[in-house]
Amino acid sequence: MKWRWEYLTVSEFEDAREKAERVAMIPIGSLETHGPHLPLGNDGLKIEKIADMVAQIEPVVVLPTLFYTQSYQAKLLPGALCIHSDLLTALLENICDEAYRNGFEKIVLLHGHGGNTPVMEGFLRLVADKAKPYAVYSIPPWAGLWELIDQIKETEDIGHACEMETSIALFLIPDAVNMEAAKGKIYKRREDLDVAPASTPVDWIANWPEGPLGNPSKATLEKGEKLVKKWVEVVVDSLRRIKKDKVVPELMRKLREVRYGKGGG
Ligand SMILES: [Zn+2]
Repeated sequence: MKWRWEYLTVSEFEDAREKAERVAMIPIGSLETHGPHLPLGNDGLKIEKIADMVAQIEPVVVLPTLFYTQSYQAKLLPGALCIHSDLLTALLENICDEAYRNGFEKIVLLHGHGGNTPVMEGFLRLVADKAKPYAVYSIPPWAGLWELIDQIKETEDIGHACEMETSIALFLIPDAVNMEAAKGKIYKRREDLDVAPASTPVDWIANWPEGPLGNPSKATLEKGEKLVKKWVEVVVDSLRRIKKDKVVPELMRKLREVRYGKGGG
């Protein structure tokens, strides 16, 4: 069965929505450098595949992937396309409002890019502040993968265009990976930013000026397969519990009462 919003016909759409128990999912990626060996759209390309695999196991209507997001620090390297926080927040609000208007009561944000975390936290606050008539759930990138990563990694530094992210890409988007370009490359942490415990707007790019971390040439298809299998399992499990969840909708209803009075909004 088809689950991607853009592929459904109008009659299939209503059937899919009901089979999905009125839950929609938005895969969220980015456009930014992923070293010489991975594509700029890596995060969106892979999270879209994860969402598709999840939907085949646990019904959910998958909205078109959001590639236009945030990667401020990556502006120092070619290929980043970064959307301002206020515009991105407004866009997400608009998309979720429209999903609700079409009958979806729960919306799951499925993240493939860690750099979006701050703006997503802001968006969750906006949903509560405006007492939206729907519930939003945000699943961070690599959710539930860290134990497995610790078991299979051969490289110390993990996080971006690294051994793990490259392994995932080898499994999900092999045609977009150029392992030749990763050969012999080892990305070491630069040590000259010394302001801890303060954080700064440029922590990542200060520590990793070329973008990637560690040793992506240690990536393998086998590691990628294990990571993807686990990732899908974790998201399916989370989605099932989200479908059952009554706490968030009830608290959102109470927030609407606070904002609009009983029976309002
Ligand atoms: Zn990435």
